[in-house]
Amino acid sequence: MGQFSEDTIFAPSSAIGGAIAVIRVSGAEARRTGEILGAGPADTPRQLRHVEIRKNGELIDDGMAVYFAAPKSYTGEDMVEINCHGGMQTVQKVLAALGSLGFRPAGPGEFTKRAFLNGKMDLSAAEAVMDVINATAEQSLKAALLQLQGSVKREIDSIESLLLDALSGIDAAIDYPDEAEADTVEALPASLAEAEARVGGLIAESRRGKVLRDGLRVAIVGRPNVGKSSLMNALLGSDRAIVTAQAGTTRDVIDEKLSMRGVPVRLIDTAGIRRASDEAERIGVDRARSELGTADVVCVVLDASNALTDEDAALLEETKDTTRLILLNKRDLPRKVGGRFDGSISISAKTGEGLDALRDAILKLAAPERSDGTYITNERHINALERALVSLTEARRAAELDCAATDIKNALHYLGSITGTDVDASVIDRIFANFCVGK
Ligand code: GDP
Repeated sequence: MGQFSEDTIFAPSSAIGGAIAVIRVSGAEARRTGEILGAGPADTPRQLRHVEIRKNGELIDDGMAVYFAAPKSYTGEDMVEINCHGGMQTVQKVLAALGSLGFRPAGPGEFTKRAFLNGKMDLSAAEAVMDVINATAEQSLKAALLQLQGSVKREIDSIESLLLDALSGIDAAIDYPDEAEADTVEALPASLAEAEARVGGLIAESRRGKVLRDGLRVAIVGRPNVGKSSLMNALLGSDRAIVTAQAGTTRDVIDEKLSMRGVPVRLIDTAGIRRASDEAERIGVDRARSELGTADVVCVVLDASNALTDEDAALLEETKDTTRLILLNKRDLPRKVGGRFDGSISISAKTGEGLDALRDAILKLAAPERSDGTYITNERHINALERALVSLTEARRAAELDCAATDIKNALHYLGSITGTDVDASVIDRIFANFCVGK
């Protein structure tokens, strides 16, 4: 561990406009912040103290500050955190005072980037920081927090050590063919198969991880009057709605976010799927169709109190290859719909009957739950795992030991790119560029 960077950075870490603002300073010179904190240098680590913040002797604000000595800080460098009043004027003045000490404003994610580069956390944990901040539902937050605590790193480390053992066995067999080869060659397929299975398992479970991070897309389709909007409202009424800044409602597609048993769900009412009579309508229909194509689960709503219409039949045909649930709505009314529908769920959007079974079915289709809550949620990690899997399969099929060794090294490289032990600087820059300033 060690400090990699010369310059000292600062940034507000809280949103502007609150009562109190938190301003962070990190770097080799951070202790010099004491020069603007009238009470003298902030030199007693981990003690929150009252300070008067001054620039050129002029009082700017009255606040609190705490000093962390390297390496025992978030970034691993010397750090100071100042709590001052949150008004724009005050914050600007404190930032200007820090600038006058020769410090520079931090770029996006620069504190966390330094934490990673100083070995305070692995790359997958650093990436989880933003997921924790952005998590919209309980289960998503849980997965991100576990990742922040190193759950992904632990799993990857253990697969890596399996592969390193195999690799050293191969080296021994190549160097001393007479003594070691028989054992190593015998054990290799089993080790590789285990590594493959574990990487494959992480990829398979990443589906749920992605759902936890980005939300499960559930499309609701059906002809007019079967009860689509009633169903949306019934689910929205009982499951906590996730409030988002941008409105998702358009003429053709209504999009609502909610938290279903702690899992983020996007409900998409694709009212627009019907036979288009004019050009403008066709655009709407195309859009609704593309929503159908990207949905994780399609709910086809039928009106059980009426006979099937041609339009119902056409929709059933159109959705037959999707991951779908057939919902027989209006079960509180006498049933008139004929025929059998495999795996259908009988519900009433009006009385709420059957909605629990519907939630069970939706969440079951989303992906199985892993008992330890470790999910790969990040697209970059999934991509690296997929490449590692290809290399492992090639290693298992390799005819020569040295070819197998090369493939295993490739697999290790991809695994290392997840935790950051083996990753390009440009990749690191790209990751932290997506962070917010102050984190
Ligand atoms: P959409 O056009 O598919 O969105 O259908 P709506 O949600 O607007 O519902 C059409 C009509 O059916 C409305 O009068 C609803 O009150 C009624 N409706 C919806 N669901 C049920 C149900 O489960 N039971 C009964 N009895 N009526 C329902």
